[in-house]
Amino acid sequence: MNLVPLTRRVRRAAKRFREARMLVRALRYQYQPVAAHLIPIRRCNLSCAYCNEYDDHSSPVPTADVLRRIDRLAALGTGIVTLSGGEPLLHPDLDEIIRRIRGHGMIATLITNGYLLSRDRIRRLNLAGLDHLQISIDNVMPDDVSKKSLKVLDQKLRWLAEDGRFDVTVNSVVGGGIRNPDDAAVIARRARELGFSTTVGLIHDGSGRLRQLDDQQKTILEEVVAVGKSAFDFANYNRFQKNLANGQPNDWHCGAGCRYLYICEDGLVHWCSQQRGHPGIPLEHYGPEDLRREYHQVKSCAPLCTVGCVHRVAQVDELRTDPQATLSEWFATPVPGGRPRPPMAVRVMMWAFVTNPRRDLFRSVTMRAFGGSTSLDGSLPAPGSQLPARVFSRCYGGHGALKRWR
Ligand code: SF4
Ligand code: SF4
Repeated sequence: MNLVPLTRRVRRAAKRFREARMLVRALRYQYQPVAAHLIPIRRCNLSCAYCNEYDDHSSPVPTADVLRRIDRLAALGTGIVTLSGGEPLLHPDLDEIIRRIRGHGMIATLITNGYLLSRDRIRRLNLAGLDHLQISIDNVMPDDVSKKSLKVLDQKLRWLAEDGRFDVTVNSVVGGGIRNPDDAAVIARRARELGFSTTVGLIHDGSGRLRQLDDQQKTILEEVVAVGKSAFDFANYNRFQKNLANGQPNDWHCGAGCRYLYICEDGLVHWCSQQRGHPGIPLEHYGPEDLRREYHQVKSCAPLCTVGCVHRVAQVDELRTDPQATLSEWFATPVPGGRPRPPMAVRVMMWAFVTNPRRDLFRSVTMRAFGGSTSLDGSLPAPGSQLPARVFSRCYGGHGALKRWR
């Protein structure tokens, strides 16, 4: 009997639980990082023409340094740690690094170009406890801009579908430099056929801002976009992506440097991959004052920013500040192909904390269970009070591309 589908379902259920727990904590603590990107190696085995996040020579960050940075992120209360690069699969101790993230009860995710995936590598990622993998595919056939093609990577996708016990998202891209805009639709259809989530990225310039799409690209974007299964995928398209595709700025607050951290190979904290150098403080010295200051820092790059992972995090803050208005907006905006339907974790939270007549009781009980306090003052948890790995975490054992919609 093939136990993989059952194991995958159990692990997904456990992950949904941890996502919900992380969301509760994100709502509870205003100045706590929701997500962080951590670079264990800057080197990449490919050289995509549009990318400004790799080199072809640097050594892996010493494992002890990476582990220390993970411990520090946990101490700051970070919910999700995404390993990116360069190509993170080039790091010789990647499994140990993933285990450390999971050992702190954080969600471990990986962004890869997929070239180094093999059946054995996928099994090792299973054993390490990886929660989520994103693989980026730029075109159907490799060309001089990108070798991340469906032709080369389709076999890897099949292995992931057969053996992977973690969630997989396939990211395709629309925008300048991609020769055939149709490729994004072909890639997304193949990914869905294999049971994966899909996202679509917009090419942005070196400061993280948009290059406007032409009409054909906009049509392809509409066709490809889909609501993901993660709590953080919901409503991406509805707000940020739709405006950007039409060349319209977004009115939002970027919480980078607090709610989202980008930790480079030198261990410095930056707003994001496209705004490196701000604030450029070593993670080991980064503390509550830095988080609070950077949260309130107004970023002039925000209106046309395309860095999707920070948009996702901003949605948590909008939900936190004004749940009724935020939810109304999410539900009011049509999604291509059907009615808007947020992921389960968000729906449960909405029912428990917003619409339920006994929501005060729910809030109190949940905050005690997940957040350690019933207070909603937005302060940081006491040092060392990061949630221990609880019930479910025991159940299982840049490549940040210029265009990525994360
Ligand atoms: S708005 Fe924030 S996420 Fe976007 S480019 Fe600027 S600092 Fe980075
Ligand atoms: S986009 Fe990803 S695969 Fe391509 S060079 Fe950059 S890090 Fe490497």
